[in-house]
Amino acid sequence: MIREAARYALARVKTRNHSSDSELRKALMLLLEISDPDETVLLCETACTVRNESSGARMAVRALVETSSLCNNDCYYCGLNRGNKKAHRYKLGREDIVCCAKDAFSHGIRTVVLQSGEDGTHAGEVADTIADIKKIGDIAVTLSFGERPRHEYALWKEAGADRYLLRIESTDPELYASMHRNRKLESRLECLDALQELGYQTGSGIMIGFPGQTAGHIADDLIFFTKRGFEMIGMGPFIPHPDTPFARAPSGSVRTTLNAIAAARLCMPNVWMPATTALGSMDKDWRPDALRSGANVLMPNFSPQEKRKLYSIYPGKRCIGERTALVQQECESIARAGGLTVDWSRADAPAFAVTLGKASSAGPA
Ligand code: SF4
Repeated sequence: MIREAARYALARVKTRNHSSDSELRKALMLLLEISDPDETVLLCETACTVRNESSGARMAVRALVETSSLCNNDCYYCGLNRGNKKAHRYKLGREDIVCCAKDAFSHGIRTVVLQSGEDGTHAGEVADTIADIKKIGDIAVTLSFGERPRHEYALWKEAGADRYLLRIESTDPELYASMHRNRKLESRLECLDALQELGYQTGSGIMIGFPGQTAGHIADDLIFFTKRGFEMIGMGPFIPHPDTPFARAPSGSVRTTLNAIAAARLCMPNVWMPATTALGSMDKDWRPDALRSGANVLMPNFSPQEKRKLYSIYPGKRCIGERTALVQQECESIARAGGLTVDWSRADAPAFAVTLGKASSAGPA
């Protein structure tokens, strides 16, 4: 049974026909809190129609390489926080990272995502690694190394990096402070400013359902993402790690996460949005459901097999057992289950694909 209020909110967000942020916020909150089966079907089908009409019914593939589990930071939700003495730490060398990128390339993947804790790796070492990867062929390099000085982001861009992922986690200063020790929202915003100014395809995102977060917070974050014009948005459910201050908090809701993905798609028709590994690591693999809610990216893990379980941001990561040898079949299978076909190109954001002279990877504008 679909409420008139839900139809109204959906139309408001989809057509961006709202007179103020507070009106949009109200509509987004209603969409985030939907639980009626008929309403969820309507929300998700509308989001998929918007995605398919704007960027095609396709799923991009990005190879994830977790380069270091060392971290100097203390995020209360993350198993790699520096206070966790039980965490096993490792750091891949330059040759190992390039080897993982070559492996991904040989499996037909044209984006590699290098991710690590904030381990203070020398910026020149990272730049050399990026340059080595770019010699493999036409492969996009996405970085996710957290907060670094602007001149280091500039050096990496110069070395050939294409994209950068930096989750905001919350645009509410108090909520942000409640999740991080000795970190301020301002410094994260400054980093995002620098990345966009330097010409990175920039991604951000949030966890859904961590302690203290409400539908109002998520709605505010979605409005922030829309205004900033990010090219990529990642959202997954909060999963408590036993060796963190948030150990006893309940997991985030899958339903709210899927609703947030659908609502984000309505706000940002062209954005690249992953069916996150966190969604694949709950009671079942919810990644096809994320694709059926408006997501359009999958990130198979190409870290060395023996290192995957050590990169323990949250427990129970599904990708630990995924076999790279079968990556093509598994991507095809998940895409099919989500009603999409696989796009094996670099799949740049539309504006950047034109700049790079690769309009074919952009899909309909
Ligand atoms: S979320 Fe990132 S920066 Fe924070 S503790 Fe974990 S690895 Fe470190």
